[in-house]
Amino acid sequence: MAKSVTPDAISTILANPSPDSSSDLPEIIVQVLDLKLTGNRYTFNASDGKMKVRAIFPSNMSSEIIAGSIQNKGLVKILHYTLNDIPNKSEKYLIVIKCEVVAPALETEITAEVNTEESEVVLKKPKLENQIKDEVKTEGAGIVLKPKPEMVSKSAAQIIYEQRENMAPSTRMAMSRRVHPLVSLNPYQGNWTIKVRLTSKGNMRTYKNARGEGCVFNVELTDEDGTQIQATMFNEAARKFFDKFQLGKVYYISKGTLKLANKQFKTVKNDYEMTLNENSMVEEASNEESFIPETKFNFVPIDQLGPYVNGRELVDIIGVVQGVGAISNVKRKVDNENIPKRDMTVADDTKRTVVVSLWNELANTVGQELFDIADKSPIVAIKSLKVGDFQGVSLSTLGKSTVLINPDIPEAKKLKSWYDSEGKGSSMASIGSGLSPSSKGGARSMYSDRVSLSHITGNPSLGEDKPAFFSIKAFISLIKPDQAMWYRACKTCNKKVTEAVGSGYWCEGCQKNDDECSLRYIMVSKISDASGEAWVSAFNEEAERIVGCPADELDKLKSNEEGNAYQQRLKDATWARHLFRVSVTQNEYNNEKRQRITVRAVAPIDFAEESRFLLEEIKKMRNSQ
Ligand SMILES: [Zn+2]
Repeated sequence: MAKSVTPDAISTILANPSPDSSSDLPEIIVQVLDLKLTGNRYTFNASDGKMKVRAIFPSNMSSEIIAGSIQNKGLVKILHYTLNDIPNKSEKYLIVIKCEVVAPALETEITAEVNTEESEVVLKKPKLENQIKDEVKTEGAGIVLKPKPEMVSKSAAQIIYEQRENMAPSTRMAMSRRVHPLVSLNPYQGNWTIKVRLTSKGNMRTYKNARGEGCVFNVELTDEDGTQIQATMFNEAARKFFDKFQLGKVYYISKGTLKLANKQFKTVKNDYEMTLNENSMVEEASNEESFIPETKFNFVPIDQLGPYVNGRELVDIIGVVQGVGAISNVKRKVDNENIPKRDMTVADDTKRTVVVSLWNELANTVGQELFDIADKSPIVAIKSLKVGDFQGVSLSTLGKSTVLINPDIPEAKKLKSWYDSEGKGSSMASIGSGLSPSSKGGARSMYSDRVSLSHITGNPSLGEDKPAFFSIKAFISLIKPDQAMWYRACKTCNKKVTEAVGSGYWCEGCQKNDDECSLRYIMVSKISDASGEAWVSAFNEEAERIVGCPADELDKLKSNEEGNAYQQRLKDATWARHLFRVSVTQNEYNNEKRQRITVRAVAPIDFAEESRFLLEEIKKMRNSQ
């Protein structure tokens, strides 16, 4: 079969603006058009014959382009990507993160045999049709009319548009009692009015970027069908509407623009998001009762947070407060501003604990309140938390996070009675400990994104914007015996403790004294494969797998003066081969950017699985010849 593009590849990409590297995407093969060097990166138009999108190759593909294996009019299979907005434009930029060559230059540019009109409406067609079908159904009372799409698109959008344009703005707003359901909006339909309740209002934030300073805030809007959308206002529009928008009130809104939603840190389930500018119309629906809807939670048990680590989805949790730390200030890199932060440890009936960082206002207000009542073990329900990988799993609040203390909800009562009867006396472990590779998306992840070490060390820009993840098969080649390999950790939150005055250990994170502490690894070792070597950091669980025993045990060996059991244990761990899942990030050190490779998981080599993987690789090589 002749090699070709995947039909509707671009629509597929637009519909999944930022897939996880792990999510199952259909095959996406596009033709490379207008390939050129822009700055130091190669850009091109990705085409499926029907639609095109501007795209950029990852810098690590430059050598393939120079070597000629990626060519203009050639085909590439896109394996991982993300869509970025172009500021002030409705277009998107396709950032290719990973791809492979399918075919060298074809003779011609592939074009699908459709008329251009149709190709332009690829995105809007399904929605419009549904909407029309509904209308036909209600009016036609059982008679199924199938009008030609052209005709209908005129009646559905065009007529309303034409009618509206002929009216004075005030009349337009008044007649707009013909309200569009939120679900029917799309970027291609310019003129609509929605009737929505303001169900969440963010703080006014200021930002600084290359183009200057500005302010921004966003709101969440809900219509009577329960459909939600996020609307954002910048600068003039932000100042104009900030006071006008009041939580719980109902508004008629028109003249906003829609774009595909940036799924990052999104709580609202809508494919689109709205931008309101200073010319948008916002009118309060005066005869509507205003009420603030209850915060709806979708709690994730603490022991199930693993799969959300570094993901785009926000989570809600409910837990018993185990300890609240003092407030601290963290200097934000961009503008050197001091951001208040306060950490607390929270547990739930999965007998797991997790550290939640409260930022900004929340650190001062709710944080202080919790600090004062921490010894009463209050229940907290928190909406919209970002899940990070600090100490395995950690949670952080964002501007739109909500924290409720001892909320009057059934989940809180249940948790409280569990804690009073059983939880209080039971031992809890941090969720970050014992996160095995299998609970982080399966051992299979050890075989995805497999690279050699030189691929990482040879690409200093890896992990610049966000951590890059890879799998490696390598030997431990050196563990320096004289390094500080572990630290004294709090048994509740795993943070570093200091020796308390008198006896015991003081945890700054929990603001608590404990008789005991545990030792946790933080170890640096050198790993090597056929292509080279690199220094990697490993935390407790991963280091335990590498060394073969817990830090407490190694500490005993070390303090035992007789014999060389400690040296021997490290020697035994050296030249062992493992599969590693690593993250690569850029850290700034003395104003110099450095690559930091962190071991996220260690697994023994499964020879059957490894053979299957190699056979797959060989097959791929054959196919590409
Ligand atoms: Zn602690």
